[in-house]
Amino acid sequence: MAALLTGRTALVTGAAQGIGLEIARLLHEHGARVALADLDAERAGKAAAELAAAGPEPVLPLGCDVTDETSVDRMVGATVERFGSLDVLVNNAGITRDASLRKMTVEDFEAVIDVHLKGTWLGIRAASAVMREAGRGSIVNISSLSGKSGNPGQTNYSAAKAGIVGLTKASAKELAHRGVRVNAVQPGLIRTAMTAAMPPEVFAEREAAIPMKRAGEPHEVAGAVLFLASDLSGYMTGAVLEVGGGRLM
Ligand code: NAP
Repeated sequence: MAALLTGRTALVTGAAQGIGLEIARLLHEHGARVALADLDAERAGKAAAELAAAGPEPVLPLGCDVTDETSVDRMVGATVERFGSLDVLVNNAGITRDASLRKMTVEDFEAVIDVHLKGTWLGIRAASAVMREAGRGSIVNISSLSGKSGNPGQTNYSAAKAGIVGLTKASAKELAHRGVRVNAVQPGLIRTAMTAAMPPEVFAEREAAIPMKRAGEPHEVAGAVLFLASDLSGYMTGAVLEVGGGRLM
């Protein structure tokens, strides 16, 4: 397959593991220079070293807390300083703090809203400032099918992931005339550390309800992100792609 991102610069948040790492790997395989940002700078460094050993394009590990305005602005600034451009931003960093409404604390609610919703907003704001000047760019936000259907025990997470859809559409409308596209991906049940933390019976129950009868793999989410990041989706903005094996269609 021809490389889809030759000469482009991509920045992926939450890239030290799981879905973010697979996204960074696939974008790098497709010729992008990739900045890998994560809360844990050391693990971002290890992930970056793994990618650097696999292909010729340069990589840049960055420590970043997506909930912090200064940290996000620095992340974007460091990427542009190192690579001279920013063509693709993937807002992927995420956490869960599941609990029923009876047990969820305000701290659990705010932590999840901060990482997903505020973090994605800060990323869009900082990256779009660079992209609109360049007259091109693609921003991909990682939502979740939880934001489409609502999951019990995830009032915080479902609200944040639904909020990301509204944020995607509003910013897509603001930025379209400057050549900057903003889209979202809604993964279903994907095998990562995040879902490994689920009680096994809940995981099995959710998996059984998927028409394709299996959980997805991180690289299967990465494929949809690559499509949205590349010119293959050049006439798409404000779209939400479901990657869920047919779950909740
Ligand atoms: P994961 O394995 O837990 O990875 C998430 C990464 O985000 C971790 O490396 C984590 O770093 C990082 N992170 C957390 N808080 C951060 C912050 N404040 N600043 C920067 N980085 C931060 O999760 P995943 O399953 O790959 O999920 C990736 C994305 O897909 C998330 O947005 C998630 O909500 C979404 N998603 C996942 C599924 C699924 O089934 N797995 C389904 C739908 C959507 P630390 O580990 O150092 O904290």
